Amino acid sequence: MQLLALDFDGVISDSAPECFVVALCTYLRTQNGTSLALPPGFDADSAPAPAAVEAAEFYRPFVELMPLGNRAEDFGIVLSAIDAGATIRDQGDYDRFRAKLSERWLDDFHTAFYEERRAVSERDPVGWERLMEPYPGFLEMLRGRASDAVLAIATAKDRRSVDRLLGSYGARDLFPVERVFDKETGVSKVTHLRALRDQEGVAFAEMTFVDDKVNHLDSVASLGVRCALAAWGYNGDREIALARERGYLVCALDDVEPLLFG
Ligand SMILES: [Mg+2]
Repeated sequence: MQLLALDFDGVISDSAPECFVVALCTYLRTQNGTSLALPPGFDADSAPAPAAVEAAEFYRPFVELMPLGNRAEDFGIVLSAIDAGATIRDQGDYDRFRAKLSERWLDDFHTAFYEERRAVSERDPVGWERLMEPYPGFLEMLRGRASDAVLAIATAKDRRSVDRLLGSYGARDLFPVERVFDKETGVSKVTHLRALRDQEGVAFAEMTFVDDKVNHLDSVASLGVRCALAAWGYNGDREIALARERGYLVCALDDVEPLLFG
């Protein structure tokens, strides 16, 4: 392995609490007549404490459905499904529910989500960052291996957030700006990995890509990169079984170093 490309949310950053807070605030602001309400401990002026997020009635259902989507508008779809009391058992159910929402609705939610994220992060910067802790030990492991592979980020997150968080994690030096490929690079991780190959001159066969979503690994597998599922991220038994079936590495925080670096 010459190059290790990493997804950000669900691999480096445990960002589900922040996604939930921003998505819920966006949803409540934009959807008239919703049956969802602001949970206890949430208010308009500051980011809620992580414990208030954990205790929120819809947080667990939200996290369970997160693996089925990819982008900001998917958080809206998840909340809409919870709001409607829809039964979502698998990707097929999810895709059918998604198909009932118009492209216009999805685009509007996407835009409103990023407005909300900016507003929350500016209103209460410290509280906002507290909702996205790094996964314990992972960055330290990478630091110890930084001379063994080129490290890069391939994420659908916005650059401003990634940059701020890398700063707060003390990890900007591990991922210099030119090796952070963000949401502007494209929708598919294929675009991110192609850009990395072109920039770094590393063949796909010498790359490993770590993501917490099986559908992202599926999209790049045909390039010939080695695929690894971060089992500590936003996935569950359903996704782990799928990843094994497809021959991807399945890594936990305590065995990721030997699995990736041998
Ligand atoms: Mg992810």
